Amino acid sequence: MVENSLIVHMFPCLSDNYGYLIHDLETGLTATIDTPDGDEINRQLVKQNWQLSHILNTHHHADHAGGNQQLKRQTGCEIIGPRADAARIPGIDVQLSDGDNFQFGRFTATVYDTPGHTRGHIVYHFAEEHIAFVGDTLFALGCGRLFEGTPAQMWNSLQKIMRWNDNTLIYCAHEYTQANARFAITVEPDNQRLQQRMDWIDQQRYKNLPTVPSRLGDERATNPFLRPDSENLQKTIGLEGSVVDVFARTRELKDQFRG
Ligand code: ZN
Ligand code: FE
Repeated sequence: MVENSLIVHMFPCLSDNYGYLIHDLETGLTATIDTPDGDEINRQLVKQNWQLSHILNTHHHADHAGGNQQLKRQTGCEIIGPRADAARIPGIDVQLSDGDNFQFGRFTATVYDTPGHTRGHIVYHFAEEHIAFVGDTLFALGCGRLFEGTPAQMWNSLQKIMRWNDNTLIYCAHEYTQANARFAITVEPDNQRLQQRMDWIDQQRYKNLPTVPSRLGDERATNPFLRPDSENLQKTIGLEGSVVDVFARTRELKDQFRG
């Protein structure tokens, strides 16, 4: 019998990135989500005995697309990435944008444009499998820095993610959770679920275990960047304006935060 689910193989690389290989046993297809480190991705492919067929890029930053050319040269894989930033995705073959589907063996990912961290950032949502690869848009207890976008753009991007099912597993690209938690508790000190989640995060990191993936339902309940409507948060930061204003102020405070 063929394994029915989409296999996700996760591994740490660079200083705080996560690499992901996904595999369909029936077709043998293997994709890497982004290319933080070509050599490490090759080692993981050998370890799994998988052959790379696709690169699914989320955005152009070097810790996401830096290994594209090397892996394409070595494996002949096809590179999929954001249409909105095609010029900055090395070796891109297939350009995708909001609402496009990407067929990976028996599995379908819907692509969403999530500008904010960069101008052209996309996320991949395997809706039936309740799995999403969100790059640097949403982190466990955090969100990406606004390098090339406005708070309104990023808030709009996050709202697309918030429409998904609570049980969706969010695979983000960095292990930033502990630092994010230290900030989150300063803006929403009365959030009990956040307090509980922080205990679990500290235990995981103490054992050198990942805090990723996280459940979208838990992010909704504890991630300050998804909670601009929280009274506790609004009161703490002293701002009751529109959700976009509250989100923008929260992002600013995080940028200034030295925990
Ligand atoms: Zn980035
Ligand atoms: Fe990154």
